Amino acid sequence: MNTLFLLLSLAADPVAADVVIRGATIYDGSGNAGYVGDVVIKDDKIVGVGPVFFAGKPRVIDGTGLVVAPGYIDLHTHCDSGDNSVTKPVHRFNKCYLTQGVTTVITGNCGAGPSDVKGFYGTLDKNGVGTNVAHLVPHNSVRTKAMGNANRQPTAEELQKMRDLVDAGMKDGAWGLATGLIYTPGTYAKTDEIIELAKVAAKHHGIYASHMRHEDTRLLEAIEETLTIGREAKIPVHISHIKASGKKAWGLSGDAVALIQKARAGGITVTADQYPYIASSTSLSATVVPTRYRDGTTQEYRARFDDPEKGPQMKKAIEADVKGREKAIVIASFAKNRKWQGKSLGQIAEMENKPAADVAIEIEKAGGAGVVIFGMSEEDVHVYMKQPWVATASDGSAWVPGDSVPHPRSYGTFPRKIGRYSITDGVIPLEQAIRSASGLPADIIGFTDRGYLKSGQFADVIVFDPKTFRDAATFEQPHQYATGVKYLFVNGKIVIDGGEFKEVLAGKALRHQ
Ligand SMILES: [Zn+2]
Repeated sequence: MNTLFLLLSLAADPVAADVVIRGATIYDGSGNAGYVGDVVIKDDKIVGVGPVFFAGKPRVIDGTGLVVAPGYIDLHTHCDSGDNSVTKPVHRFNKCYLTQGVTTVITGNCGAGPSDVKGFYGTLDKNGVGTNVAHLVPHNSVRTKAMGNANRQPTAEELQKMRDLVDAGMKDGAWGLATGLIYTPGTYAKTDEIIELAKVAAKHHGIYASHMRHEDTRLLEAIEETLTIGREAKIPVHISHIKASGKKAWGLSGDAVALIQKARAGGITVTADQYPYIASSTSLSATVVPTRYRDGTTQEYRARFDDPEKGPQMKKAIEADVKGREKAIVIASFAKNRKWQGKSLGQIAEMENKPAADVAIEIEKAGGAGVVIFGMSEEDVHVYMKQPWVATASDGSAWVPGDSVPHPRSYGTFPRKIGRYSITDGVIPLEQAIRSASGLPADIIGFTDRGYLKSGQFADVIVFDPKTFRDAATFEQPHQYATGVKYLFVNGKIVIDGGEFKEVLAGKALRHQ
């Protein structure tokens, strides 16, 4: 076989090369088993994979004992959100992702982020960015623009305004529409509204990605809603951060997988992504305050806690939501009282000598907090991970080390799944773990020029040491960069060289054509 390849390559014309990664085990993103060979880069493209006859005086990187793979594509990030946006100078390099081997992040997820796609991409063009960024039109932002945070159905005029915003976003290069149906105001949208907007995204060959309405005991019902949207709008649907959340929902992953497989067999394009952790993370409000109390302005929301009628109702509902989860809900970031960061509602309740629900209310009245919630089972995480249609995605955002205690997923998702779950624990084969981080997400989002090690693709390439490619970030100490990436190329530019991080802004805003 090798001799044949050699003869074939000698017979071909030599390719001009800038970089040759020589003798690493190639996992090309297709899910095929690895094989030893060369990967050749010229300018911003991959120009040869396998045995390649090259010309010029390229830099030769010795890949012996290392793995070479396509740069990872993270379908689900919040790298466009608030203080953790890659548009902020401090986050521009997106080091917490590059050190995981992630070369492209998708934004607009959970319906959050800028609805002005042109403006967002323009800012990235102007200032530069460390990873590539591809955006989805965020439904919550679109709905807010059209009708504020109102708990009702849109008027015909408001619906048209939303349609127009989705249309404009898609024309400006978004890759689809994303919803977050536990968040305001998306939670107030009925299925019909989403179908109408998904039709607009479908017209432009986009996808529909959803943080579904339920991830707990009502998980299957939420999947049904997503499938309905796919069927009615004729659009590929994608379930974000699939899970079975809360003890009562444990084990539902099997039913969820069966339901999705049936839909796939029936011709619906449905996929999912997951992060390899048993804890999730979101806002405290989305975790313990029912949506019916979360409409209107921030001031109205806060004042509602002291309303003589609504206040006691809210307190009762929050008590019910917190009950039994006091130790499972951990404060990640709370600027007003940093001592509470990293502690559970239960721990704070003991410290402060007051009920856990009262602590939650105090935090909400002071502006809210981010939380980490320990609510999943390892078995469910495994069940989802094994599915060939489940991609890896972090649900994280651009972080730099600081004093908050966020979910470690922003620093560790990809090395954790590939290094820990696949290489160390053998839950899935390495070729599948790499595919779920590269070729699969590329196929899902609709990239045709990234996600595979193949001639003609953009040179987003990772070279890692399988012995040391691991996550270092923990729930207690999340601000720790992953280890084991030896070389990383973004659009042909080297951003990690010999394990050393270079401050290079080699990423691009990726526009859907
Ligand atoms: Zn989400």
